[in-house]
Amino acid sequence: MKNGWEAIIGMEIHAQLATETKIFCACAANFGDEPNANTCPVCLGLPGALPVLNERVVDLGAKAALSLGLNINGTSIFSRKNYFYPDLPKGYQISQYDKPFSSNGTLTILTAERDESGRAGDWKPLTIHIERMHLEEDAGKNVHEGLPEVDKYSYIDLNRAGTPLAEIVTAPDFRSSWQAYDYVNHIRRVLQWIGASDADMEKGNLRCEANVSVRKIGEKEFRTKVELKNLNSVRFMQKAIEFEIKRQIAAHEAGETVNQETRLWDDKNQQTRIMRSKEDAHDYRYFPEPDLQPLVVSADFIERVKAEMPELPDAMLERFMSDYDLSRSDASQLVSEKDLAEFYERAAKASNNPRISANYILGELTRELNNSGKTAFDSPISSENLAELIKTLETGKINNNQAREVFVEMFNSGKSADEIIKEKGFEQISDSDTIGKIIDEVIEKNQNQVTAYKNGNEKLFGFFVGQVMKASNGKANPKVVNEILKKKL
Ligand code: ZN
Ligand code: MN
Repeated sequence: MKNGWEAIIGMEIHAQLATETKIFCACAANFGDEPNANTCPVCLGLPGALPVLNERVVDLGAKAALSLGLNINGTSIFSRKNYFYPDLPKGYQISQYDKPFSSNGTLTILTAERDESGRAGDWKPLTIHIERMHLEEDAGKNVHEGLPEVDKYSYIDLNRAGTPLAEIVTAPDFRSSWQAYDYVNHIRRVLQWIGASDADMEKGNLRCEANVSVRKIGEKEFRTKVELKNLNSVRFMQKAIEFEIKRQIAAHEAGETVNQETRLWDDKNQQTRIMRSKEDAHDYRYFPEPDLQPLVVSADFIERVKAEMPELPDAMLERFMSDYDLSRSDASQLVSEKDLAEFYERAAKASNNPRISANYILGELTRELNNSGKTAFDSPISSENLAELIKTLETGKINNNQAREVFVEMFNSGKSADEIIKEKGFEQISDSDTIGKIIDEVIEKNQNQVTAYKNGNEKLFGFFVGQVMKASNGKANPKVVNEILKKKL
């Protein structure tokens, strides 16, 4: 960083929890549907309607909290966060304030700085503090259409109103834009992995905000921070933070004031720009939601959720390295996605060959999946099919090139390895009687070469091998051919 400055970054993530229904009513938690189709008196905020907490939100919230190293609080309180906005029909959001669902977490992520070309340097662990993860409802969505000043209309779609969110807030522990980038990707993958959230930024079911300030190294106090909002992708977020760090350092060095404000990323002009200043800051007048009981979770409940937790990606990576003797790079590619990791583990066990399983999955399978836009989840080849192919390869029935060809055919047709090997006539001939007969014929037909070979032209051995392979349509097992030829010549 520029001469003696350091960046101070804290992150806030809103992740939509992957429930079927909304947090306080039975409406479908689906906002791609016909506008306002999934609404009822509760999520429309009609007077007298009463919220009822969706138990599944607590389940998924608990999983998320545990996967991020947070402590689940025995009692948490829902509070009203009061503000007016057209997409918020009640005039308040039900959130949590001074008694959140979970708090005080310690999380270790892997992070690396990138050079100009985007290449990552050394990956190093970074331990950060997560202050809290609380549960709350989402607001609706305003939709603006038409040309300004001509026929501009604004609509309100309340399908999203009342969908459940987990808000994850870190301490200001990040010192670079890439650390924040790796953190958000870590959170996305873990939440997807445990099934707590789809965590898809493009669909808006994971949204992040960054609080950014800078100070001279050695300073104890924080300087004024700027909040970056409406960041549509992790990469935009990283760019926005990077720009903001440089902008603030330049301002401080020029003796200008950095104002406390909310800024947006303008990707077209590759800069942040002001959205609103601190003067617009809300006083939310939080108070406990009188229509909901305190949320009490028992130690038994927490134990049950712990027992249901799948192995997390970082733990799986370490285990793949030790159990299957894989390199860190191979193991980390395999655990990039849960379905792929599970596919690998099943194939490694069924084939009893973890090395070749990894080669096939990281090579052939990944290539075919990418080309066809599929994921390991909908792979036409099952891990059992792949294991069968690997076993066939190991018996010497087919060679490496043939196995790769069979693999592609399996992927495209969904047929088993055996079927394709038969169809293609790939079966190697290893039977010495059959090969012996072919060799006899080749010797018979090429008497001149036999004489020359016997007179010392040893190079002709390759010629005979070639002739035998040709006569067998490439199916003869080369090892057996060599052995018998040597005897017969
Ligand atoms: Zn509803
Ligand atoms: Mn929030």
